[in-house]
Amino acid sequence: MSVKRIAILGSTGSIGVNTLDVIRLHPDRYKVVALTAAKQVDLLAEQCAQFKPLIAVVADEAGASRLRKLLQDKKLSTQVLYGPDALLTAVTDSDCDTVMAAIVGAAGLVPTLAAAKAGKRVLLANKEALVMSGDLFMQAMQTGGGDLLPIDSEHNAIFQCLPEQFSKLPQAHHGVEELWLTASGGPFRNTPKADLAGITPEQACAHPNWVMGRKISVDSATMMNKGLEVIEAFWLFGLPLERIKVLIHPQSVVHSMVRYRDGSVLAQMGQPDMRTPIAYGLAWPERIDAGVAPLNLSQMANLSFSEPDLTQFPCLALAFAAAKAGGTAPTVLNAANEVAVAAFLDAGLPYLEIPVVVEKTLNQIETLAASSLELILEVDTQARRIANNLIRENQR
Ligand code: NAD
Ligand code: MG
Repeated sequence: MSVKRIAILGSTGSIGVNTLDVIRLHPDRYKVVALTAAKQVDLLAEQCAQFKPLIAVVADEAGASRLRKLLQDKKLSTQVLYGPDALLTAVTDSDCDTVMAAIVGAAGLVPTLAAAKAGKRVLLANKEALVMSGDLFMQAMQTGGGDLLPIDSEHNAIFQCLPEQFSKLPQAHHGVEELWLTASGGPFRNTPKADLAGITPEQACAHPNWVMGRKISVDSATMMNKGLEVIEAFWLFGLPLERIKVLIHPQSVVHSMVRYRDGSVLAQMGQPDMRTPIAYGLAWPERIDAGVAPLNLSQMANLSFSEPDLTQFPCLALAFAAAKAGGTAPTVLNAANEVAVAAFLDAGLPYLEIPVVVEKTLNQIETLAASSLELILEVDTQARRIANNLIRENQR
């Protein structure tokens, strides 16, 4: 068995830390060659001490000099770099064969695209990258010729429930009728709308089943996360949008399902623990220990499923509309949502203003064909500017 060389983009985040937890169980299989983080220099230094990567990247110069000092004290020879271009270096100069794309948001797009083009195996957690650049990203994967393994639990579940030939010939559909993405409904599934106005970031981040980064936790509360995931599924699996469905499943045990022409429905089940899809992506087509407790179905009271209420979750409706519009509409949706969520988390934007900012931004920008990376990045910048202006107006 040859040792796989892994680069982790976003190693200090929730997915990054879980990835290292799985890798730690299999030192004979995996060698960590690059780790990157934005600001958590101390945690990154600890990770470097344990995994001894060739390259470590942080966001800025001040962080880099602090990290260099910490690594010198530990007598480590890891090369320390900083800034967006250094994320590319981590992918291209570390001689990695697998890239865990676990940066949150649009910041992950360019290095993840580089991994795709370079023919790396891409473990995709960073759904925003795919949502904003769908067609271009899938083309880059095809040109590069590497494997694309979805890490998002729903898409990982669907990947596991699809026939093996599917990835080679998705357009043949192989008897697949529908994909059913499950959604927990988040912490406010049953909260009356009138009570949502005063929701605080702490309440929004307290997800009932999953422990995750702050941005995706808010997206789960608004269900924008599920909307982004519908778009993600559209690109990953190539099925028409009307054949991708969302089902509320509050227990988060069934991670998603595939309905076939013959009446069969295949589901993937497990604990709500990201180490399962991460281990699947790392080892595919093999299976390895993920450190996850076995599922005990007899201890569960029930598993329930229902249709989502789009009036309770306007962000989900906006995502469906952007998906349908296609082109750069998902790029705008994603950018406006990132800005609105950040303003909710750090600048006092009321919770119920998140969908308002996203909708107004979508209405102000004409949808174009998403024909090049330059155009996508331009639209992303434009959407962020408009969303920020709307938020400033709201706060006046
Ligand atoms: P997180 O906030 O916990 O971690 C994000 C990581 O990205 C950190 O290492 C951070 O330092 C880095 N980062 C943030 N901004 C950056 C920037 N501008 N430049 C470079 N690095 C930057 O997020 P997370 O919960 O781990 O989520 C990561 C991605 O995985 C997201 O796209 C999320 O949607 C997806 N995802 C997460 C989960 C989960 O359980 N956490 C599940 C499914 C999908
Ligand atoms: Mg998910």
